Amino acid sequence: MKLLVINTGSSSIKYKLFEMEEKKVMSAGLVEKIGEEQSRIKHQRFLSDGKVEEKTEDLAIKDHRVGLEMVGNLLQDEQLGVIKDPNEIKAVGHRVVHGGSRFSEAVIINAEVKDAIHSLVTLAPLHNPPNLEGIAVAEEVFPQAKQVAVFDTAFHQSMPDYAFLYAIPKKYYQEHRIRVYGMHGTSHQYVAHQAAIHLGVLPHKLNAVSIHLGNGCSMTAIKNGKSVDTSMGLSPLPGLIMGTRSGDIDPAIIFYMGNKLNMSFEEIDRELNKQSGLKGVAGENDMRTIIERVEEGDQEASLALEMYAYRIRKYIGAYLAIAGPLDALIFTAGVGENSTVVREKACQGLEHLGIILNRAKNFQRQKGIQEIQDEVSTVKILVVPTDEELSIAEQTYQLVTSE
Ligand code: ADP
Repeated sequence: MKLLVINTGSSSIKYKLFEMEEKKVMSAGLVEKIGEEQSRIKHQRFLSDGKVEEKTEDLAIKDHRVGLEMVGNLLQDEQLGVIKDPNEIKAVGHRVVHGGSRFSEAVIINAEVKDAIHSLVTLAPLHNPPNLEGIAVAEEVFPQAKQVAVFDTAFHQSMPDYAFLYAIPKKYYQEHRIRVYGMHGTSHQYVAHQAAIHLGVLPHKLNAVSIHLGNGCSMTAIKNGKSVDTSMGLSPLPGLIMGTRSGDIDPAIIFYMGNKLNMSFEEIDRELNKQSGLKGVAGENDMRTIIERVEEGDQEASLALEMYAYRIRKYIGAYLAIAGPLDALIFTAGVGENSTVVREKACQGLEHLGIILNRAKNFQRQKGIQEIQDEVSTVKILVVPTDEELSIAEQTYQLVTSE
C-alpha cells in the first residue's frame, strides 16, 4: 500500500511516501518558506539500489494549497515521480499538533474530527490551522485516500490528573481546558517502543525517561510504557531550554515585562518563543554553532550549553522520582542523536543515581540504536533515532487496514 505522510508547519510541508508492505520509503521532500517571496521545494526519489535522485527549486509558493498541489505533481513527475495517478495513494497520515483531551490515539478523519481539530485552534493557534489546511488540500488532491490524523498530544493523554492540572482556579480547566497537554508525543512513544524492543522489555512494562532535543525540546517520564509526565504544557513553551524558547520561567516575569516594561502580550510572546533559549543567552539557536563557539572558548556559548544541560539534569532527577527505577534513559532528535557533549553534560553527576555514561561509547557514533552506558551503570543510556514520519505511517496503516 502506498501511504503518504504529511507534516504541515506554519510555513512548511514535510512529506514522505511509503510503500508499507515492502517497508520502503519511495520519496520524500520539504516545502519551505511558504508565503515568502522566495520559497523552496526539495523533492527526492529513492531508488532500489540505494541511490537518491533529487531536485530543488526556488520559487514563490503563496500558500499551503499551492505547495501541496506541487507535491502532488512532483509525486507524479515523469522523471522524479513514483506514482502515475493520485488514486494510487490509499492513505494519507497527517501530523496534527493539538488533539486536546479528545484524542488519545490516531483517528480516521471525518467532518466531526475536523470540527474537533478546529475547536482546538485556540490552544494551538500556530499549528492546528496549517494542519487543517493540509487535510483539506490532501482530500482534494488524493480524493480516494483515507485521511488519518496522528496527534502530537495523544501519547500524553495517559497522564494522571495530579500531573496534568495546574494549581490555578479550577474554572480555567473546566471552562477553558487549560491543563498540561504536552507535545512530541509521537516521538516519545516511538523511541520508547524502539528502546523496549532493543532491551527485550515488554513495551507496556518499560520504565524510561525520553529526552527529545530538536529545535523544540521536551522530556517525558514513561512508567509501564505510558506517559505519566512531560515537560511541555498547555503550549510548547515550558520545560527545557530550547533553540529560541525559554522553557520554564517564573510566570511573574511576564507581569514585569507588561507592567514595568510596557510590553504588549504580542511582544512578550515573541520574546519568550522566538528570542529566548540558546538564542537569548548566546545569540544563536543552532546547537552546532553553539558547540563550535564553546570549542573556541566563547564564554556566552559555554554558559548557554551549561544552562541547557543543567535543565535536562534537573528534569532527569525529577522524572527518576516518578518513573524509576528506570530501564532506560533515551536521547533522541537532532541534538540528542548527534551531540556527544550535550549527552555527557546531561548525565554529569548522576552516577549516584545509577546513570553512568561511558565516554568512549558516547563518542562512537553508529547507525541505529546505540548503548552508551558504562558496564556498572544500572540504567541503560540509549541513543535512539526518532522517526516521526515512520511512526505516523505505521499508525495510519494499522488504522486503515484494521477497518
Ligand atoms: P526539529 O525539531 O526541527 O525536527 P531536529 O530534530 O532536526 O529539529 O534538531 C535540530 C537541532 O539539532 C539543531 O539545533 C541542530 O543544531 C542540532 N544538531 C544537528 N546535528 C547536530 C550535531 N552534529 N551536533 C549538535 N547538534 C546538532
